[in-house]
Amino acid sequence: MIEAPPAPERAFHIVTLGCSKNRVDSDGMDHLLRRRGMAPTARPEDAHVLIVNTCGFLGAARAESVGAIEELLGGRRDGQVVIAAGCMPALGNYADDIPSGVDRVLTTREWYRIGDVVGDLLGEATPPEVAGCEGMLTTFDRRQAGPSAYVKVADGCDHNCSFCTIPSIKGRQASKRPLHVLQEVVDLVAGGTKEVVLVAQDTIRYGADLGMKHGLPQLLESIAEGVPDLAWLRLLYIYPSPLTLRMVDTMAAHDALLPYLDMPIQHADREVLRTMNRPSDVEMTRRLVDHARAKLPDVAMRTTFIVGYPGETDAQFRTLLRFVEEMEFDHVGVFPYSPEPGTKAVTLDLPPVPAAVAEERRAAIMEAQQAISWRKNRALVGSTLQVLIEAQGEAEDEAGQTEPISVGRARRHAPEVDGLVFVPGALPVGALVEMEVSEAGPYDLWAQPAGSSTERRARRPSLASARAARRRRDGAARSPRVTRPERRGQGRPVPMATPAGT
Ligand code: SF4
Repeated sequence: MIEAPPAPERAFHIVTLGCSKNRVDSDGMDHLLRRRGMAPTARPEDAHVLIVNTCGFLGAARAESVGAIEELLGGRRDGQVVIAAGCMPALGNYADDIPSGVDRVLTTREWYRIGDVVGDLLGEATPPEVAGCEGMLTTFDRRQAGPSAYVKVADGCDHNCSFCTIPSIKGRQASKRPLHVLQEVVDLVAGGTKEVVLVAQDTIRYGADLGMKHGLPQLLESIAEGVPDLAWLRLLYIYPSPLTLRMVDTMAAHDALLPYLDMPIQHADREVLRTMNRPSDVEMTRRLVDHARAKLPDVAMRTTFIVGYPGETDAQFRTLLRFVEEMEFDHVGVFPYSPEPGTKAVTLDLPPVPAAVAEERRAAIMEAQQAISWRKNRALVGSTLQVLIEAQGEAEDEAGQTEPISVGRARRHAPEVDGLVFVPGALPVGALVEMEVSEAGPYDLWAQPAGSSTERRARRPSLASARAARRRRDGAARSPRVTRPERRGQGRPVPMATPAGT
């Protein structure tokens, strides 16, 4: 029997639920607790401090958060403290749903107080220790970052999309200062990170609250020029806006800025967009897409849509379907509308769309998009792509024979939401390799070193084994409960059903 390693003297265990922004906050708490001399543990039973960084975006996410807290409370032993952090405590309507027995609650904008709260709960009277000069949006050591890391450049949102709870959870946008973002990227790259993914609720408006007119392009330029060793810099969550034009021009000027545009459009019918309180000028959206395609020949474009929004007619849905067929995006996520208490959408005097109809509409768009994605992927066969290796695993054939494979992503694939690239052999995690695409599925690609014989192709692993391989890249300190952060999937079975913002 393998003995469990001895429990650290003062150990903590963090369960992270929800999106990439929550994951960054968990990394911040991890940093602050390590600074207090504590050590992370992947085994909750070994921890003195148990933290659940909750998600409050949807009912299903809140239920998952409550379940995670209850599970820890159920197994709690003497001396353990349980802290509920994150978005759920920030939602006035749901703060009472946090199970009783929790020792302390921290809202999503208070995570930087974790060190003081833990010190208080453990009876350690140490002076208050705030992470830096800006409190919640400071720089911190990302010790557990792997080949790819998220960097949160802002939090909160100044929009008021009718279906979205985020402004009520997070408040108005607050941007991290450019020098702090730069420092975080420098530290990550020094630690071996190859890809940095900038995230916010509305990344395109980065810096507006700091008085910056073109904050995002300036930030991108300063990273591209100030951190020349960073191989890939990716952006997520670009709200459709004319600001995108200048950002695309900046992307075109720097090879490290990946030609990847993640622009959630949500719908293509002017009236539905108007009731969503979203930009309703579909022609402007088309111009943004055309500009990106003209400036960035290899651009990969991702978007998300909501179907079944209150009042959406068959004709309005068909407008959306035609738009999807016409625009030929590379990656699309479609989500049935989810009514969330406290949002404007639930007060609209519009007929609800039955759930079964919304699901049919979702399936129709996914079917149309799958054909587009597959066609685009097949066109890549024979081409050479740069692949970032993120995990090693095994593929099994029908006879039960296994062979090592490596799992990575190309520049056209964002982490966790887009496809994967499978290559034969066990390549080092973090390696950036040139591979020739040998086979294509609707989402994933299979590739091999250029000029290899066909025998060396990676076998197609099952999705289950691919996910298992991907999980193996997580550091031991990360909880096994960590969920796929962005549930903005593109037809894969995903447990939740609304895009995580923007
Ligand atoms: S959907 Fe995005 S842009 Fe709209 S309110 Fe929510 S976070 Fe802000």
